[in-house]
Amino acid sequence: MPGLVLVATPIGNLGDLSPRALDTLRSADAVLCEDTRVTGGMLARHGVSVTLIPLHDHNEAAQAPNLIARLKSGARLALVSDAGTPLVSDPGYRLVRAAIAEGVRVDAVPGPNAAVMALTLSGLPPHPFLFLGFLPAKEGARAAELQRIRAVERAGLAATLIFYEAPHRVPESLAAMALAFGEARPAAVARELTKLFEELRRDTLGTLAAHYSDHAARGEVVILVGPAPEEAAVEGALEDQLRAALAAGLS
Ligand code: SAM
Repeated sequence: MPGLVLVATPIGNLGDLSPRALDTLRSADAVLCEDTRVTGGMLARHGVSVTLIPLHDHNEAAQAPNLIARLKSGARLALVSDAGTPLVSDPGYRLVRAAIAEGVRVDAVPGPNAAVMALTLSGLPPHPFLFLGFLPAKEGARAAELQRIRAVERAGLAATLIFYEAPHRVPESLAAMALAFGEARPAAVARELTKLFEELRRDTLGTLAAHYSDHAARGEVVILVGPAPEEAAVEGALEDQLRAALAAGLS
């Protein structure tokens, strides 16, 4: 059937490529992918040879009209990212929007996603959850974003928060989160999911921040922060912190 198919691929363990994903990739007229080496390597391991077209943040807007024209003339194109579910902190949104606007059929072959896997393993409430992707890399912008999230929490949202993070920024991000949400907030760090060195650390933000300031977080990481407690408890905790800070300053 012609149209665009969003195909989820493994986030580490190659055995997680579903039979339907493989069939879809094998039968597509072309596969749109972030990095042809990554997707080409994965397909070669499954003996699949198919035309690969690079589609990434830098060329998606320019490529979309050609791809829509191909789709409208009857092509079946599959879209993958380097890992996991396309569009989730990955390219594809602009193309999907354009396809929908042009009446092109869009389907998905669901599969691995680091955020959902981390959520289910975290021991934190699974719903509601708020997926926030990557925080800004710069300290000031990151602190401002965390304050915006706090404002949403103060307005009454008690959701588990899910962030993607680059390994070298894990210590500073956890420290900034501990400052914004309080050291006592339950949290989890999910590392190298589905891979040989998969690790789940479930603790408070303060303890996790201290741990990762001493131990490098190698590999790929999802950070999860438990829901805000009742506002009265937060205010109480802040008052305690203020009292402690004042006491420390006065002694
Ligand atoms: N589209 C992907 C998905 O569905 O999860 C996410 C792509 S995003 C560019 C890459 C980020 O996802 C990484 O920096 C990390 O935060 C997270 N991630 C991807 N694979 C992971 C894994 N195996 N373990 C932990 N986190 C992972």
